[in-house]
Amino acid sequence: MAAMATAAALTSARSSAFHGLAVPPQAGAAAAPRRQALSLSISAAAARRDFDNFKFEPIRESIVSREMTRRYMTDMITHADTDVVIVGAGSAGLSCAYELSKDPAIRVAIVEQSVSPGGGAWLGGQLFSAMIVRKPAHLFLQEVGVPYDDAGEDSSYVVVKHAALFTSTILSKVLERPNVKLFNAVAAEDLIVRKGRVAGVVTNWALVAMNHDTQSCMDPNVMEAKVVVSSCGHDGPFGATGVKRLRSIGMVENVPGMKALDMNAAEDQIVRFTREVVPGMIVTGMEVAEIEGCCRMGPTFGAMMMSGVKAAHLAREALGLSEDEIPAVGSLHPEMVIASADNAEVADA
Ligand SMILES: Cc1cc2nc3c(=O)[nH]c(=O)nc-3n(C[C@H](O)[C@H](O)[C@H](O)COP(=O)(O)OP(=O)(O)OC[C@H]3O[C@@H](n4cnc5c(N)ncnc54)[C@H](O)[C@@H]3O)c2cc1C
Repeated sequence: MAAMATAAALTSARSSAFHGLAVPPQAGAAAAPRRQALSLSISAAAARRDFDNFKFEPIRESIVSREMTRRYMTDMITHADTDVVIVGAGSAGLSCAYELSKDPAIRVAIVEQSVSPGGGAWLGGQLFSAMIVRKPAHLFLQEVGVPYDDAGEDSSYVVVKHAALFTSTILSKVLERPNVKLFNAVAAEDLIVRKGRVAGVVTNWALVAMNHDTQSCMDPNVMEAKVVVSSCGHDGPFGATGVKRLRSIGMVENVPGMKALDMNAAEDQIVRFTREVVPGMIVTGMEVAEIEGCCRMGPTFGAMMMSGVKAAHLAREALGLSEDEIPAVGSLHPEMVIASADNAEVADA
């Protein structure tokens, strides 16, 4: 039985030669390991303890290679022309992906230049652990399932004991959605612009992108998208790349950069100014501070989450989808909608 399943998986792997069409996930290939696990002669509990006689099921090295290659290439083919490309898997990009991918009809590709997604949200400020989130963004934590300490109704903020708890939780929720593909170690090197509208991104392996100065021409690849969400973070070697490119090609006049730190002003500003800056491109997270000249906000992350959620709703709008059609995977709290609304008041510092 197991051998038949393996043979079926191999046949389907071979028959999925790349015709340039989206290839649906292969149920047979995915199910095979489970069937094999059931046929183990020793119980799972015993196997866990019997390390001296522990033995894995056999596999051919070529199968490992084919499984990885087929799936990745299928993803590349599927997302060569996709609904939304999110550039940057930091806290804003992941929050956007979480909200947007509730609708299974929207295909979302996340392009992240680092091998490790998560951006700056693995730690709090000054490399400390705790993540401070000002209310009402704690409702987003609740929805995603991130535990936090709350000093009570009179407290204006909550504390996640380790920033990595937020990042790992939202990352796993996003990755398990069937309509999301994360391409990590892939950099967006440029934008596709057609008739004044951003229509996708130019991509390359990040390690290649980092070596353009050391090698002769290494051409990139492309990913067309109906909407691009740029969440590249604040300026740096790989930061604010989306808005800096808009400036260098003359689609925006100025990228003034973020101003000095003012938490109260900054967080509201970032959510308020999260917008479609040019047709086809929405900017979210700290990249907003770069293009709008907002204050830097320091180690408080609610604005990244709410800005990402707002970007997702703007992306739906840009795709021509109504808010009423969003399937209820989680429930969007009314407080969060108000907090991310266009006309939200900027707090006086
Ligand atoms: C020097 C420094 C200063 C900081 N200052 C502040 C501050 O003032 N205020 C503040 O709140 N926080 C600051 N932080 C913390 C942290 O960066 C942010 O709070 C938060 O992580 C920003 O979230 P984000 O999602 O907007 O961007 P990030 O967490 O930075 O995520 C952006 C992601 O995009 C990826 N990326 C960028 N360009 C590309 C590209 N072209 N292709 C593919 N991927 C790309 C990056 O690798 C990264 O993973 C700072 C961090 C550093 C290192």
